[in-house]
Amino acid sequence: MLYQRTLAKKVKVTGIGIHSGKKVTMTLHPAEADFGIQFKRTDLLDAPLLKADAQTVGATENNTTIGSGENAVHTVEHLLSCFYGLGINNVLCEIDGPEVPIMDGSGASFVFLLKETGIATLNKSKKFLVVLEKIKVEVGDKWATIEPASKLIIDSTIVFAHPIIKEQRKVFEFSCENYIEEIGRARTFGLLRDVDMLKRKGLIKGGSLDNAIVLDEFKVVNPEGLRFSDEFVRHKILDTIGDISLLGFEIAGKITTYKSGHNLHNLLCRKLLETPGAFEIVTASSLQKEAIEAFALPRAMLPSFQ
Ligand SMILES: [Zn+2]
Repeated sequence: MLYQRTLAKKVKVTGIGIHSGKKVTMTLHPAEADFGIQFKRTDLLDAPLLKADAQTVGATENNTTIGSGENAVHTVEHLLSCFYGLGINNVLCEIDGPEVPIMDGSGASFVFLLKETGIATLNKSKKFLVVLEKIKVEVGDKWATIEPASKLIIDSTIVFAHPIIKEQRKVFEFSCENYIEEIGRARTFGLLRDVDMLKRKGLIKGGSLDNAIVLDEFKVVNPEGLRFSDEFVRHKILDTIGDISLLGFEIAGKITTYKSGHNLHNLLCRKLLETPGAFEIVTASSLQKEAIEAFALPRAMLPSFQ
């Protein structure tokens, strides 16, 4: 049996939003089985809970936003990616502002925080979404597919007209350990030449060398350099995991992306969910061993029963 997970206790984290530039405090609370990941804006009077799922995504430009209008939470993708990466299914995320803090631009701070807080096991089986049929979405020359596989595999290709990035491809076989080692630490990135355009759109007001890899025309500007030579495509995989976790289940399927972004990831989720017969929801016990073993946690993070 592979059980659903939550946090062992509540934990508070403070930081700034990369787009809003605003300081926010987020409190993550343990939640019961089948609660899923839900957000609550505590700075708004009686704002209803926002369930994180593919259908509640209100915007996908430069970030993934849950909800729309005033009751929305922006830039949820890195936090959601870390929850999926550690097999955490149920959390209430209270936040006193419009955007999840960016931390260092990767998932490293969240992984550390969740590890220190502890992970608890709930007495109910995880559910898996098993892909039965290949689905494809495309926008211009960008595309993404999801197809049957015994466990989650992501084959990602990014292409940027920049001498440090160019074309990068990585095939990632999901496991919690691989996620922590290979994906969680990869930071978001931006090109200096896009900064003015993004600022005019009201974005990246909180962006800095402390929370993103910044590239000028030829090189990485950050004095510490890169964490991986292919950190860019690794971050794309981090984003992809966060966005497709909005399917609401653990996933048994292979995702292939070419020049994808939040919009394409969300379109892929929606098209899959809207295609009858393209998937089934099963409990973990009916899956192949390797899909279950992928959710083993490193020794230091072994969960407690709640
Ligand atoms: Zn990202």
